[in-house]
Amino acid sequence: MAKYIYEFGPGRTDGDASLKNLLGGKGANLAEMAKLGLPVPPGFTISTECCNHYFDRGGGFPDILESQVIEAMTNIENQTDMKFGDENNPLLISCRSGARSSMPGMMETILNIGLCSKTIPGLIAKTGNEWFVYDAYRRLIMMYSDVVMEKAEQIKPEDGMGIRLNLEMMMINLKNDKGYENDTDISSGDMKLLCERFKKKIFEYLNNKFPDDPKEQLMGSIGAVFKSWNGKRAISYRRIEHIPDDWGTAVNVQAMVFGNMGQTSATGVAFTRDPALGTNKFYGEWLINAQGEDVVAGTRTPNPLNNDTKNHHNKHLPSLEEAMPELYAQLFEIRNILEAHYKDMQDIEFTIQEGLLYMLQCRNGKRTAHASLNMAMDMYDEGIIDEKTMICRLDPGVLDDMLHPIVDPDQEKTIVKLTEGLPAGPGGAWGQIVFTSEDAVLWTRTGKKVILVREETNPEDIEGMRAACGILTARGGMTSHAALVARGWGKCCIVGAGALDINFKTRQFKVGTKVLNEGDFITLNGTKGVVYQGQLKMKDATENPRFQKFMAIADSYRTMKVRANADTPKDAKIALGFGAEGIGLFRTEHMFYGSDSAKPLFLLRKMILSNSKEERKKALDELFPFVKQEICATLSVMDNLPVTLRLLDPPLHEFVPVSQENQKEIAKALGIDLEELVKRSALLKESNPMIGHRGVRLGITFPEITQMQVTAVFEACAELIQAGKYPLPEIMVPVTCSEKELAFTSKIVTACYEQTIAKYKIQAIPYMFGTMIEIPRAALIADKMAKYAQFFSFGTNDLTQMTFGFSRDDVGSFMNDYIDNAILSFDPFETLDLEAVGSLIEISVERGRKTRPDIKLGICGEHGGDPASVVFCHKAGLTYVSCSPYRVPIARLAAAQAAILN
Ligand code: PEP
Ligand code: MG
Repeated sequence: MAKYIYEFGPGRTDGDASLKNLLGGKGANLAEMAKLGLPVPPGFTISTECCNHYFDRGGGFPDILESQVIEAMTNIENQTDMKFGDENNPLLISCRSGARSSMPGMMETILNIGLCSKTIPGLIAKTGNEWFVYDAYRRLIMMYSDVVMEKAEQIKPEDGMGIRLNLEMMMINLKNDKGYENDTDISSGDMKLLCERFKKKIFEYLNNKFPDDPKEQLMGSIGAVFKSWNGKRAISYRRIEHIPDDWGTAVNVQAMVFGNMGQTSATGVAFTRDPALGTNKFYGEWLINAQGEDVVAGTRTPNPLNNDTKNHHNKHLPSLEEAMPELYAQLFEIRNILEAHYKDMQDIEFTIQEGLLYMLQCRNGKRTAHASLNMAMDMYDEGIIDEKTMICRLDPGVLDDMLHPIVDPDQEKTIVKLTEGLPAGPGGAWGQIVFTSEDAVLWTRTGKKVILVREETNPEDIEGMRAACGILTARGGMTSHAALVARGWGKCCIVGAGALDINFKTRQFKVGTKVLNEGDFITLNGTKGVVYQGQLKMKDATENPRFQKFMAIADSYRTMKVRANADTPKDAKIALGFGAEGIGLFRTEHMFYGSDSAKPLFLLRKMILSNSKEERKKALDELFPFVKQEICATLSVMDNLPVTLRLLDPPLHEFVPVSQENQKEIAKALGIDLEELVKRSALLKESNPMIGHRGVRLGITFPEITQMQVTAVFEACAELIQAGKYPLPEIMVPVTCSEKELAFTSKIVTACYEQTIAKYKIQAIPYMFGTMIEIPRAALIADKMAKYAQFFSFGTNDLTQMTFGFSRDDVGSFMNDYIDNAILSFDPFETLDLEAVGSLIEISVERGRKTRPDIKLGICGEHGGDPASVVFCHKAGLTYVSCSPYRVPIARLAAAQAAILN
């Protein structure tokens, strides 16, 4: 019989933290905490496997599930000495989602299950607290009608609001009518009345009765939590985070403990260390007389946990340390136990019910990139983790955030701040104000940078938060969903900026007398929590000595080299600064783009539009000094380091002039009329340039183009050698598919080499000759290619294009459909497709080495800076990866981790 249920609690615990895939993160850690003897209310986890069976059956429970649930419920009843559905001593339970990796707020939770007309009087009698019971009941009604009766049934509300908002409006109206300020001011009589009105509204609105049977509530909740795995926001989050659809969610059913039973009850969220800066300080927020959702929903500014957590927003509120010192001490002890056990920062949820502390969750906490670095190094210094673990703690992807720009501190000093809030996500950002998630997405698509401004964010805002450069909210604490999600993404974010008075109708917000409109620019300093009007300058945040030290240790484990793709002396210097050990791709054509390229571009155009060998030769001679100069400058910066210089790659028509003015100028230089020039241009036009007359094919048709470039390389080297430098050029032929193309090119290279040696009267230039592998045919005949090539560099941009048959230039028009329909789980132009492109690389490595055992192997496609792809390159035995300068640190760390873990 399949086992779908795993129990946890003081009585019996089946699972532990190692069963994360089966029990989800929350279930596995509840089991682990129970095993550690921490106060975890008893419960059970329904496995992710069951979730997958549920969907396999088109949304139906496996037959045996219900009986297993009933049996597990009996165990909870025995441990709590209460009975589910009992009229005198009723047990209430919660039902929560929990996937393998945390998806904060993306799926559903239902609390207080088991309250119904039969159990309410008994619970009132038992607790003597009518207010509490009806507050719990109205929460159940709100959550259940929203999650189970509306969302899970995929009902699209006609009024665009949905049942939950309708019920919330009713509650607000009641508060206004009766002059209640807070929810806790509502009298128990009115709370009871509200529950009755809620149920009536639900019947009118959803045409369905709110269930009064505890078992029906329980099974309905379990099904709805499963279904929330396929809810819109959960799917969006999975796409962004590359979480596979078939992981499924587990469901955790657990005895309720109540933080809303009065002044000795509370609920809170904490981090064992500061998630923003990483300092070794217990950090958290709590609310008295509240249920868990109140803290993370961001609707009330929560109290600080302790002195270390006080800031200018919450310092007037009592901390848990002050209000309940003994319970705080117990929680602090648990914090120490958890850190010592997990050896990592934990994000915990707790509830205090009438003076008793309970643990409801722990998981590895999300943190900023800076915090991640600081925590890893501190924990190593504290002897909690070893050096290898420290290196593996920092996700290479987050280095991007660490190297993110910050607001220029000098300019900041001169500007008056607009307002401030809590520093929830690091770095700086500026953009135009938008007020909805949809606008954030739409405006970003049109190339604008936006700051999403919200009252508070909820998980429905996920796509807008992703699209925006920064997020600013008026309400919410450091553990609100906005803060958690932003921190996870390293996005600049400020929450709880209470002075913001937002008017969504007029699309404006006010701060005091200042009014800002949609589209106005603001700047956020997410590290400090300060908001400025207008666009402030941004600065690089790279020169952090702790980061440098960390990277130096990482490098000591790394076996694969890391180079940069760079085509100018300026980029080469940046790359060296980031720790590049050479250039893996110098794209010759880039000297014809960008600033200062007018003259060489003109000469290149003249060459391209030449009609005879003589004309072309003349143009090439004029172009030669420019090419040589550019190559020489870059080789000089990269002295004594290898530089792979790729021969001209793009199809020539890319450079054909289009403006009449430019056309006339070239025509004049060639001594032809405009009509003739237009005719020649038309002949060059290609309809599929990325697989057209490009790469080595140009050199086959026009060997003089190869000759010019290669001579420029050798002469640059000869001059550098004579100046006492040590250039290490590697001449690389692009877009090859046959060893005969290499034989053809190699002859030209050898001849140019001999000529240069003789001309400069030097003994030798230490150069290599090699090819890119970017066509599947070349990959498959790597043994033959290696007869001529001393090195291969995998051009995985083209190799992906040609393996998938997806054109690089227009893949954007349908890639999202492939991802949305789960045909691909990631964009293969970003992360290497191991199945096919990876196989081609492995085949080439094996066949290339057979012919030439010491062949040098690298990758220079965009994947060279993608952490997962770097791990593959390490395993495939490549000599180096090459990526854009800014991704060099990412590749260095990913390569170090690959060496440690493999
Ligand atoms: C490649 O194809 O992977 C490559 C690096 O070359 P390019 O992107 O210039 O075609
Ligand atoms: Mg290419």
